[in-house]
Amino acid sequence: MNIAESAAMVRTLEERGWRKAASIEAADLVIVNTCSVRRTAEQRVFGRLDLLNALKRKAVARWNSAEGEGYPFKILVAGCMASRLGGKLKADFVMGTLEKANFPQILEKIEMLNSGREEESDSQIPFLSTVDEEPPAFAFSPLHYEEGTVRSFVPVMHGCDNFCTYCIVPYTRGREVSRPPSDILAEIKTISSRGMREITLLGQNVNAYQWNGILFDELLEMIAQKVEEPGEKIRWVRFLSSHPKDFSAKTIGVLARHRCFCRHLHLCVQHGSDRVLAAMNRRYTRAQYLALVDQIRAVLPDITLSTDILIGFPGETEADFEETLDFMRQVQFIYAYMYHFNPREGTAAFSLPDRVPDEVKRRRLSAVIALQKEITVKLLNTRVGEQVTVLIEGSSKKNTNELICRTEWDEMVVIPGDVSRIGAFTEVRLESLNGNTFRGRELKE
Ligand code: SF4
Repeated sequence: MNIAESAAMVRTLEERGWRKAASIEAADLVIVNTCSVRRTAEQRVFGRLDLLNALKRKAVARWNSAEGEGYPFKILVAGCMASRLGGKLKADFVMGTLEKANFPQILEKIEMLNSGREEESDSQIPFLSTVDEEPPAFAFSPLHYEEGTVRSFVPVMHGCDNFCTYCIVPYTRGREVSRPPSDILAEIKTISSRGMREITLLGQNVNAYQWNGILFDELLEMIAQKVEEPGEKIRWVRFLSSHPKDFSAKTIGVLARHRCFCRHLHLCVQHGSDRVLAAMNRRYTRAQYLALVDQIRAVLPDITLSTDILIGFPGETEADFEETLDFMRQVQFIYAYMYHFNPREGTAAFSLPDRVPDEVKRRRLSAVIALQKEITVKLLNTRVGEQVTVLIEGSSKKNTNELICRTEWDEMVVIPGDVSRIGAFTEVRLESLNGNTFRGRELKE
């Protein structure tokens, strides 16, 4: 979501005549778009703000000196930390996730200050962008694609009503708000005309999409019909993130009917123990998740599944942890994002007793990571020698004669080739596996 929203901010800036600066010191504005999901992410932002404020103090000193050059840049903090911490952040401007519609007004204020049309004032530092009340309909930006890419995010909803006990998202992103289908289809039409080849529909809980009685499966049907029109550039469609309790049989039916939907799903499980799932307020059981997996695989047998796993939740016993390992062996995820529990202030789990000691959390997490690595390598090795279709996404940073590609099952492949091929769908033979990435060769151009 932050990538999509950062891209939308860049677009707004460019439309107003702003350009990317060569360095921080040369900038008029530095934006830090933040995430609050994990404590480590927030700590990195605090470190970055300290650095930016130190650079800014030097710039102010230079500006105030006889040299009078290098007008000091402004610092804007956007995103979930801005929602959570507001005026406690060391910034000139703070804009939370629900206040993004105010971005043009903030830019206007900065433009006025920079041009000397408005006087600097210390009376309200930071300047807090606010809305009177949570808006009933969120103003999504019309476009969220990054220039020069062939894959793009398309937000369809945001916010979450689930209140998993460990999660800060409902507090920083607010309640679920869906985007009108007409806006979504208009964005898809525009980015298709700019050469986009793949889209990922985005939301904190996409399966909860609901617009005037139109549910997620109906939205998927509309999008499938659009991208399956003759001559359409977009060929592959993905979506993130899915909550198992909201994944409907109708959605599975749409996926099966339309070949534009990639055969990969990210289906967050978080834990393999019913006791811990209940304490997390996930609102499904291990058996219900497994039944959903069976239902999906019965219709889409080649689908790959990935997940999130949160280990070390308060009260987690050795038996709960073993159940999670067993669960992973049973489902065979192609990859997983794995974390240990970090209490987030403001969430229900923050004050839960019976915390798992840090060294136990670390040991269990290492075991989970090792098991997932084993499963991933085993699954990927069975694919070596196969012929698959890939989308060529870009060139390798290390070697510009190598291209980075992705299969619809969300597997990465590197093939030899030059940048003129970026954006093409092509057939490759998977020749070997290096870590989690295949080495392949293109079969035809
Ligand atoms: S479903 Fe749970 S984990 Fe996901 S965003 Fe909502 S509250 Fe957070």
